[in-house]
Amino acid sequence: MGHRFIFIKKGVEVIWKGRGEWWDLVREDPVLCAQCGGLCCQSHPGMYLDPIQFQEAWDLFSRPWEMEEVLLANSLALKICMGVPIPMPSYAPQGCVFWSPEGCSLPKPKRPLGCLALEPKIETIIEGEIRCSLPPELNYLQCFSRWKELYKERGIMEDVVALASLFHPYRFLGDQQRERV
Ligand code: SF4
Ligand code: SF4
Repeated sequence: MGHRFIFIKKGVEVIWKGRGEWWDLVREDPVLCAQCGGLCCQSHPGMYLDPIQFQEAWDLFSRPWEMEEVLLANSLALKICMGVPIPMPSYAPQGCVFWSPEGCSLPKPKRPLGCLALEPKIETIIEGEIRCSLPPELNYLQCFSRWKELYKERGIMEDVVALASLFHPYRFLGDQQRERV
């Protein structure tokens, strides 16, 4: 199975669609999110929960790749979840390293599934608190086990676990900022 993005012309807007199962989890409401300005991004960056989506996002199916090189080149980090390192954007003083008042600097296909799958809710705008949530069908255990399988297939589990201490999500934050997140 190929894993390239399909670009679909819909009216004047060109939308994208990945071919992995992860696509069914994507929730979008650009108008609501623009109004909100990214409360989620200023709080916790989303994780690359699906290894297929991660590889599609960074165009890794087209070439050999090393996790360290991808993390380093793209300000990414690894968070250990149930013993499995999961890639995600690093934290920055403003929240996610990719967030600015103009919005997310990553094009949509490069954003983590944890961001793409967050279901925008009007209550977030009304209450000024994050009320958006990930869809219940998103199965974290399955996500972590898919990453584990990929690391095992490539024989890099121990190497990636060791990398996680160097590429800690909070590595760009000072001590006081770390305490706040
Ligand atoms: S907090 Fe919710 S409404 Fe705001 S940007 Fe994130 S997903 Fe969109
Ligand atoms: S990657 Fe983009 S959408 Fe996801 S938390 Fe960071 S700024 Fe927000």
